[in-house]
Amino acid sequence: MVEKNKHYNIEITGVSSDCNGVGQIDGFAVFVPMTVTGDVAEIVVVKVLSRYAIGRVLNIITPSPMRKEPECPVFKRCGGCHLQHIKYKNQLEIKRGFIEAAMQRIGGFDGFKCDEVLGMENPERYRNKCIFPIGTDRNGEVVSGFYAKRSHEIIPVTDCMAGQELNGKIVDAVKEYMSEVNIKPYDEATHTGLVRRVFIRDGRNSGEIMVVVSVNGKNVPKREILIKKLRSISENIVSIFININEKQTNNVLGEENKLIYGKPEIEDTLCGIKFSISPHSFYQINPYMTEKLYGKALEYAQITEKDKVLDVYCGIGTISLSASKTAKHVTGIEIVEQAVKDAKKNAENNGITNAEFFADSAENAVPKLIESGIRPDVVILDPPRKGSDEATLRAIAQAEPKRIVYVSCNASTLARDAKFLAELGYTPTKCTGVDMFPHTSHVETVVLLQRQNT
Ligand code: SAH
Repeated sequence: MVEKNKHYNIEITGVSSDCNGVGQIDGFAVFVPMTVTGDVAEIVVVKVLSRYAIGRVLNIITPSPMRKEPECPVFKRCGGCHLQHIKYKNQLEIKRGFIEAAMQRIGGFDGFKCDEVLGMENPERYRNKCIFPIGTDRNGEVVSGFYAKRSHEIIPVTDCMAGQELNGKIVDAVKEYMSEVNIKPYDEATHTGLVRRVFIRDGRNSGEIMVVVSVNGKNVPKREILIKKLRSISENIVSIFININEKQTNNVLGEENKLIYGKPEIEDTLCGIKFSISPHSFYQINPYMTEKLYGKALEYAQITEKDKVLDVYCGIGTISLSASKTAKHVTGIEIVEQAVKDAKKNAENNGITNAEFFADSAENAVPKLIESGIRPDVVILDPPRKGSDEATLRAIAQAEPKRIVYVSCNASTLARDAKFLAELGYTPTKCTGVDMFPHTSHVETVVLLQRQNT
């Protein structure tokens, strides 16, 4: 019997999909955060539930060969990364295991294999979007950084290694401005104060930077001081917004943006295509790996100049426009109207005339398109974390495309949907993971599903 508060020695034999090490004590599963397969650790049991217990490491007796010293000083407290205590090549293997486990257990695909998880050469400074909450610490000092695990306590971080180096300077400039004009950070508990977050986006290929200061109000005082401070950091800061976020909400940005300096959009190039990005646009956050991800998706899609392609959940049209280079025609479906406007504009700016975009939900639009007689040869699906739905998948299968390429940021919903597609005649034949978010628990997966009789 595993008992609460008792100390045990445990050997860690695996890592769960939420990145906790797991081992057994007397045949009972115990999850231990911050451990990895191969560790032998002394732990204290902090919680016992009916089917498992949770432990906390007191001492690593024998470190796993996969272990390494985390490089970030706040790794243990910050909620951003989960795997920095594990060597990068092992992180990739662990993620491959997550994908295979989901496809086998949830999808029911016995012995399913994922070829590999493509990793970064240098898995740092990859994020082109960072959000720094601003608040007050216990001593009344203004702090900025990231939220602690499962909380809204701000862990002070000036230089997060996931983002570009300039971010720290940008956040400091905003704090300096706040102190100079005497404005307070937002306080969640009392819904008072002004500055909530600093949101920074950079176009990795263009170098252009956008700064959005989200505030609990309609404006900021003496904004020329803010603009001057930001512009003195880098002339690449070409777009500065105030975002109006007056609601009591966890949403990073409110609906309304006020441009206070420069251009309303920054530009970036991805897969040789130019994209305009506004504060609310969805844009993949790791540009290096996005190119690998789309490359793999298009490799699986094997699009020829005769093929009609349907890209469902197309966002601002990144995959659609890449596919349009070889396809006869591409149709993109996306629920967010602004994203569809961006997609159309991106097509126009790049002189692409064989792609069209519709703002509608997949579950509504796809069955209608198929009913109207459209027969795509290849379908690309890139849904949000909750995955696709039966109406969309059924309609796609009815149209009998040769190939379905499913791009997913959540292996569990991917496996569930792949199982449903398998019942409708599609077999997952190839799978690759792409490490879009190094050091975190997340992994992107690309699966090729082929019609059984083709
Ligand atoms: N393929 C794009 C975006 C993928 S993210 C890219 O790689 O950049 C998933 C997208 O699905 C988001 O843009 C989101 O707005 C959209 N979405 C979410 N639910 C949807 C639904 N029910 N129907 C259509 N699109 C949806």
